[in-house]
Amino acid sequence: MSISKKATESRDAEVDVKYDAVIVGAGFAGMYMLHRLRGQGLSARVFEAGTGVGGTWYWNRYPGARCDIMSMQYSYSFSEELDQEWNWSEKYSPQPDILAYAEHVAERFDLRKDIRFNTRVTAATFDEEAKRWQVETDQGDVISAQFCIMAVGCLSSANMPDFEGIDDFEGPVYHTGHWPHEEVDFTGQRVGVIGTGSSAIQSIPIIAQQAAELTVFQRTPNYSVPAWNEMMDPDEERAVKAEYPALREKMRSRPTGFYFEFNTQPALDATPEEREGQYETFWSRGGLPFLGAYGDLLFEKEANDTIAEFGRRKIRDVVDDPATADLLCPDDIFGGKRLCVDSGYFETYNLPHVSLVDISERPIERLTKQGIVANGTEYPVDAIVCATGFAAMTGSFDNIRITGRNGLALTEKWRAGPRTYLGLSTAGFPNMFMITGPGSPSVLASMIQAIEQHVDWMSDCISHMRDIGAQTIEAEVNYEDDWVEHVNEVAKISLRSTSSSWYLGANVPGRPRVFMPYIGGFPIYVDKCNEVMTKGFEGFTLDGTKNSDAQPRVHLTERWRVPVDTDVISPAAIAAKRVPIV
Ligand code: FAD
Ligand code: NAP
Repeated sequence: MSISKKATESRDAEVDVKYDAVIVGAGFAGMYMLHRLRGQGLSARVFEAGTGVGGTWYWNRYPGARCDIMSMQYSYSFSEELDQEWNWSEKYSPQPDILAYAEHVAERFDLRKDIRFNTRVTAATFDEEAKRWQVETDQGDVISAQFCIMAVGCLSSANMPDFEGIDDFEGPVYHTGHWPHEEVDFTGQRVGVIGTGSSAIQSIPIIAQQAAELTVFQRTPNYSVPAWNEMMDPDEERAVKAEYPALREKMRSRPTGFYFEFNTQPALDATPEEREGQYETFWSRGGLPFLGAYGDLLFEKEANDTIAEFGRRKIRDVVDDPATADLLCPDDIFGGKRLCVDSGYFETYNLPHVSLVDISERPIERLTKQGIVANGTEYPVDAIVCATGFAAMTGSFDNIRITGRNGLALTEKWRAGPRTYLGLSTAGFPNMFMITGPGSPSVLASMIQAIEQHVDWMSDCISHMRDIGAQTIEAEVNYEDDWVEHVNEVAKISLRSTSSSWYLGANVPGRPRVFMPYIGGFPIYVDKCNEVMTKGFEGFTLDGTKNSDAQPRVHLTERWRVPVDTDVISPAAIAAKRVPIV
């Protein structure tokens, strides 16, 4: 390894250094990737733009931030010791606890020494002659790696609308996804929150407790189900831990990659009274599992209408002012956008100092020195919170100049929407892997499961390459085309593809409208990845093979031999439209 050093403000840059792999990002994906590659004896350098690990949970420090998958399931499953030693304090963990968990993992597996923090990757270029990636950073690093692994996150590139007059506003403007590390105190202030997605729905009740006045600017209302969050019951925690491997296995076999009770019967087969009872039962369980009340809710508009009406009724039951309640009631598909999970969101609008401004007809006109102008009225505020979401799934790729074979720019290839083979890789970019990339279940599954499956697949693939002495692996265009077509076809059967959500890039003007995640269900997808692997990486070209006579063994990580419950998650079940939450 040759090292020439160039001084930067905080550390020496690494120039002309060689690694087996470079990993971009130190969230849950980058951390686990590093751990796996190290275990295989590979050298890896991780670059992370933030000053610490945790990714999403490092950046999203806004008040009220917490997970919407139960903590006992929203965690790594690769280490039984880790599962046993970590204790969660709440059913749905708040951001500081999840960040503490990420920091514990970094400590426990000694990850930090290979991570360069405060360093943003700016360019990655495939050198065809050397068959290696050259990776450049904003700290002057220029390193060479056989593999370039993008662990950049699906929800990591903040969407900050370019409001006219934003520089004129004299107070602070925060984005939920870039929340300051110092405590933000809104006590006595007039606060404007822009947006009513999950981040807004979590933060609004807490901001309202501090602010003197809170004005919420709503472009589109959202459905939300109460979390019914509670402190962790130690008996329940003990019981889960006693059977953790079994729970993890059940999670992997579910369409969403996490476990909860669901019902596959169609809503339309039930009487209105039966449906009402069923919805109440599932509502009382709270959170995302509410969508498991029936199997056809995201397939049949008529079925969805019944749950949507129930959701709207719940809003009207809570919100005192009928005009405000009307504004808060969506008329979209229930669960078409990512379903929000809240703690006291709708109740907040009954507070006398909280008001809602409808900007659905006319967008925010501009910011002034002291306020927000909408619908021709200036709303004076001291601070603004943009809960305006992310350039989802591809935004963090767009921020890096990625160049593959023949000078092909990834942004150019993806101009009309991302094209990948299995969401793992894209033709023209050999040895570049993407963790939870577009075209994989990613954001439609519990993400830590999706991350682990991708990381394990990639590690197994690299082991195979080492066995046979292959230098590069690259997706083949015809297999990629078929996969993209399949992803699009499957999306069409779900009502989700009809909502204007970030799943389709519809939240940010100018982005192509393509349903990006794979909606066919997590275990079916895992099965497909396994099949590709066991067929010798079907659809990929392995190049530079030295040991072509070697009898390669399949390295499939054992836990991904997932039993597919064919009654509920099979192509036939999907065709019969009886799969909750896809
Ligand atoms: P991230 O955590 O986004 O990490 C990516 C990292 O890459 C970031 O730290 C970023 O700084 C870094 N990076 C990006 N580009 C560069 C670059 N060019 N150079 C250097 N570093 C770079 N999912 C669930 O399953 N359940 C939940 O309850 C849930 N709650 C969420 C709540 C919020 C507020 C948000 C925003 C997302 C939530 N998600 C949830 C999705 C969440 O993003 C994933 O669960 C998971 O944390 C993603 O991990 P990751 O490592 O893939 O990406
Ligand atoms: P989001 O769901 O995209 O919501 C952004 C909100 O801002 C929407 O209401 C959007 O309106 C609005 N908006 C965007 N641009 C605007 C503009 N120019 N003017 C006015 N309003 C504008 O983003 P998010 O709330 O950050 O959540 C993103 C995802 O992160 C979630 O769906 C979820 O997957 C994850 N998340 C999870 C949790 C959790 O509960 N664990 C919490 C936060 C985030 P439109 O709807 O009209 O586009």
